[in-house]
Amino acid sequence: MQERQTKQKQIIYEGLQALNHPTATQVYAWVREHYPTVSRATVFRVLGGFALSGQALELRFAGSEVRYDYNTHAHYHARCVHCGKVTDVSAPLIEQESIKSVRTHDEFEIEGCVIEFYGRCKECKEEIV
Ligand SMILES: [Zn+2]
Ligand SMILES: [Zn+2]
Repeated sequence: MQERQTKQKQIIYEGLQALNHPTATQVYAWVREHYPTVSRATVFRVLGGFALSGQALELRFAGSEVRYDYNTHAHYHARCVHCGKVTDVSAPLIEQESIKSVRTHDEFEIEGCVIEFYGRCKECKEEIV
């Protein structure tokens, strides 16, 4: 039993790495091809567990499904407003110090911020032309 769980986790993590910032549904589709006995519920539960334990990032974009990222280093993302594809952005990170220096007018304590870039991916850009 224990061994089976480990194997399931491994294959789910592999799916996470093979796909580009996938949703849980996309990971499930990938996993099913390689390991058909894994249930949808297991995939969702294991991905949630990865996020809790810090093995993966949970990306929450306004108005779209949660996506997962195996790259847990701090980095920014760009989201295609047309197809929803998410990609990494190489941009200098805002220093923790700068975030701490942010002040509001009513003593709100800032703990962090989310920066989201958006636009059109290569494929969607070409579609319009
Ligand atoms: Zn697109
Ligand atoms: Zn990423």
